[in-house]
Amino acid sequence: MAKKGHLTVLAGSMFAGKTTKLITLYRVFTKNGYKTLCFKAEGAEVKDRKGKTNSHDERNLPVTFIENNKPQLILKIVKKERPDKVLIDSAQFFPDKATKKVVFKLLDQGIDVVVNGLLYDYRRKYFRLMHELFDLADERMELFAICERCGARAKNTERVAGGTKRLEATSKAKYIAVCTRHHKIYKG
Ligand SMILES: [Zn+2]
Repeated sequence: MAKKGHLTVLAGSMFAGKTTKLITLYRVFTKNGYKTLCFKAEGAEVKDRKGKTNSHDERNLPVTFIENNKPQLILKIVKKERPDKVLIDSAQFFPDKATKKVVFKLLDQGIDVVVNGLLYDYRRKYFRLMHELFDLADERMELFAICERCGARAKNTERVAGGTKRLEATSKAKYIAVCTRHHKIYKG
């Protein structure tokens, strides 16, 4: 049987440097000759599939945008482009079950997968996909931000503006990173 891919999961709150870490991995992989594709969830309709994503510190990463309700498109693109490594940025925007299946299919094909995303929403409820993948990963890294209220290690994201939908892009909502002691649930 062919060798299985290796699953790495980077989890943490917003501003913990998850995308920055992904950019570093992307550079290391490509420099070492591994073809690497990075996928990112977009809205329900994608006009330009190829683009770039920015980390909070303004570095950028070439990405392929995928409709957030169609994670299985990743398999289609991978079949055509045949990467050695697949990165998935902000995986919490994709649906739980279908995305988990996609990740396992990639691993079965011998492709190494790196997933990053939030472990908790702004109410401190788990994102199931991230929680499950974090448990199943061959390698897991929890990244921390700094609490805006006391400077301690922050593992929570607090929404401070922008509605009460569970998932809202940072362009519409405003978030800060806070420690558990200082976390408040935004009521809108
Ligand atoms: Zn604090």
